[in-house]
Amino acid sequence: EQRLSARVRGIAPSATMSIDAKTKALLNDGQPVVNMSVGEPDFDTPKAAAFAGIKAIVNGQTRYTAAAGTLDLRKAIVSKLMRENGLQYTPEQIVVSSGAKHSLFNIFLAICDPGDEVILPAPYWVSYPEQIRLSGAEPVIVSCTEASGFKMTPEQLEAAMTPKTKAVMLNSPNNPTGAVYSREELTALGEVLLKHDVYVVTDEIYEKLVYGVEHYSINGLVPDLMSRTVVVNGFSKAFAMTGWRLGYLAGPLDVVKAVSSLQSHATGNPASMSQAAGVAAFDAFDPSMVEAFHERRDYLVRALKEMDGLQCLMPDGAFYVFPNISRLYGKSLEGKRIENSNDFCTMLLETDLVAAVPGSAFGAPDNMRLSYATSMDQIKLAVERIQHFISRLQ
Ligand code: PLP
Repeated sequence: EQRLSARVRGIAPSATMSIDAKTKALLNDGQPVVNMSVGEPDFDTPKAAAFAGIKAIVNGQTRYTAAAGTLDLRKAIVSKLMRENGLQYTPEQIVVSSGAKHSLFNIFLAICDPGDEVILPAPYWVSYPEQIRLSGAEPVIVSCTEASGFKMTPEQLEAAMTPKTKAVMLNSPNNPTGAVYSREELTALGEVLLKHDVYVVTDEIYEKLVYGVEHYSINGLVPDLMSRTVVVNGFSKAFAMTGWRLGYLAGPLDVVKAVSSLQSHATGNPASMSQAAGVAAFDAFDPSMVEAFHERRDYLVRALKEMDGLQCLMPDGAFYVFPNISRLYGKSLEGKRIENSNDFCTMLLETDLVAAVPGSAFGAPDNMRLSYATSMDQIKLAVERIQHFISRLQ
């Protein structure tokens, strides 16, 4: 007799949990840890969005809304998708949820059955494989190498297709690598996708955080994919609104109706005041945040590239760098040997107080993820400490 369902028993314990716990324990202890493991902007929500949320509360917009979100917000999202992504949708094709994470969970539940496969390029965001499994489907991991800039090639995509493939997951700009697919690269993937009857789920939550390159939506470049593409986006990263829990998806009407119905029974609408803040956020984007990230990225990557034993690609987007640390495997510090990314990150944290996330969490065991969503002073300190750590490895 099992106390827990097979569904939740299948959830893999997060590879980041022990590092997380250790980081929190050290911080609680008053240790000056430089936390490079965070996945949220270190900026405040734009004031106009925050005040719109407050105003909604005070003015009594504190009741249930339509399960799929207010018409106001869905209209604002439709305009945004047209203006910024060249995508034509109607408000009926939008469902607003409690974060993009929730939108993703909804979509996998709405399109996947047990036995289905979802093609998932690695390195991937930690929640994708678990959400795919919770829907009953199997993630089919496609390992993307540093040689291809951590991007899936059309050949890899073609080779991963089987009669069971239900959907392909895309995430550009990518967490954890920061890779951004170019127009040509997305178009080439689109041509493969056109040959197969599969859904495309494209998570574009980091779209605003690009440095000298353009973000494209695949269904904007390959319009014939429109009827089977689901675009997922949210307010957490672009508008520093992680705590408001607001995300959305746009897709074909039948799929979106199913998601809306599913959501109506699971959570209902996302918080009404968050939705009001979301409407105001679109006019309150702060480009100085992007400039700050750009400057930090340049500094951090330059510093990492100079370190012995590290290799680091220049990421084009998001707020992460993903250096390869595998040349340091086999080395030791104070009698302890580094065998893998988990050991590396654990020892870096314990001895030099820098918190990073092991690449194994993202299906990339040769790397670690450093977030630069923290101040330049903290980044400079992290660089000194990582340098100090590596210099002592034998
Ligand atoms: N997608 C990616 C790639 C992410 O990195 C995150 C957050 O870390 C999310 C989705 C979810 O964001 P939220 O649920 O806060 O909208």
